[in-house]
Amino acid sequence: MNSIIYLDNAATTPVVQPVIDAMVPYFGEHYGNPSSIFYSVGAEAGSALSAARESVARSLGCEPSEVFFTSCGSEADNWALKGTAHRLGAKGKKHLITSCIEHHAILHTMKALEKDGFEVTYLPVDHEGFVNPADVKAAIRPDTALVSIMFANNEIGTIEPVEEIAQICHEHNVWFHTDAVQAVGAVPIRFKEMGFDMLSLSAHKFNGPKGVGALIVRRGILPDILIEGGAQERGRRAGTENLAGIVGMAKALEIAVGSLEEKSKKLSAMRDALQRHIETMPDVTINGTKGDKRLPGTLNVSFEGAESESILLFLDMSGICASSGSACASGSLDPSHVLMGIGLSHALANCSVRFSFGVQNTPEQVETVCKALDEAVAEVRRRSAIYG
Ligand code: PLP
Repeated sequence: MNSIIYLDNAATTPVVQPVIDAMVPYFGEHYGNPSSIFYSVGAEAGSALSAARESVARSLGCEPSEVFFTSCGSEADNWALKGTAHRLGAKGKKHLITSCIEHHAILHTMKALEKDGFEVTYLPVDHEGFVNPADVKAAIRPDTALVSIMFANNEIGTIEPVEEIAQICHEHNVWFHTDAVQAVGAVPIRFKEMGFDMLSLSAHKFNGPKGVGALIVRRGILPDILIEGGAQERGRRAGTENLAGIVGMAKALEIAVGSLEEKSKKLSAMRDALQRHIETMPDVTINGTKGDKRLPGTLNVSFEGAESESILLFLDMSGICASSGSACASGSLDPSHVLMGIGLSHALANCSVRFSFGVQNTPEQVETVCKALDEAVAEVRRRSAIYG
């Protein structure tokens, strides 16, 4: 396990020990159902749920009553989009706006809504992956219900001008949702101050457990219900709560937000060291922005003439885990829609690797990766029919 160098923290992160310690009692000792309020075992579970809700609210700068726990980031995204479309669509607002580089949890949901009769505008991005707020403004129509733009991109790490876009939406009386799954726990986020109406997060991206997330919904905003059933989450999201997961998410978020500056410095130092090395290699392109509007741990590179899958196999033989795009998209032969969205050619998009750093990585590991990468890329290019 220790010999593995895991550089795929944008796909998922290991759960850190204090989070495991916080979760364990809720698998055994505190097994109650938070909805069973008439006896102490249930009431204790209910108190733990409330404490976790308060903690998440403190970490993100919102009210506890604005936190709705979900089973993952994808559910939160589905809920924000479908819930808004169905609520406001009934009032004739049948137009939605998003960007062409969103995660599939957004893009596929938008496609499903198109089949239901909604119209969707997919905004382009520039070569660094930025959405232009002026494009958002120009796309808003009298029947626009929602704008959904991600906080930070999962493949290239570009941080979008979401505060400015939220402001434009408010001026036009349009709801604004941000998929902040990659950003929460990586960059500072204050929900209320930043003017968001809805925000999605997912615990497994910030050293919390898998299978738990949340949708933060500003008071006064009421998307339709996605999961019907019991009265959990103030009657807005049915299903017995994943209490251990929720407790773990709150703890992981508290740790991540409490060490944000330190974490950001550590991750960006390692990322920049790898980038500097890569820039000495021939025929490479750094994808996305190289400026500070990028997630601290994310680096996406195209190695001309060396297909991603082959590079990844060579790296794997050296115990290094990286990715050829978002984990959800791998297995598909189509080039990444994000890389195509920033204007890469089909060929270059298929030669791209994402390295994403996490708290467990070390500068020594970066040195090992640089050596292994030199060898892997040289070897793949040597065997390549399209390079040289
Ligand atoms: N949105 C973004 C930007 C993501 O990166 C991901 C996961 O990779 C998701 C949504 C989906 O989150 P989850 O895996 O919790 O469903």
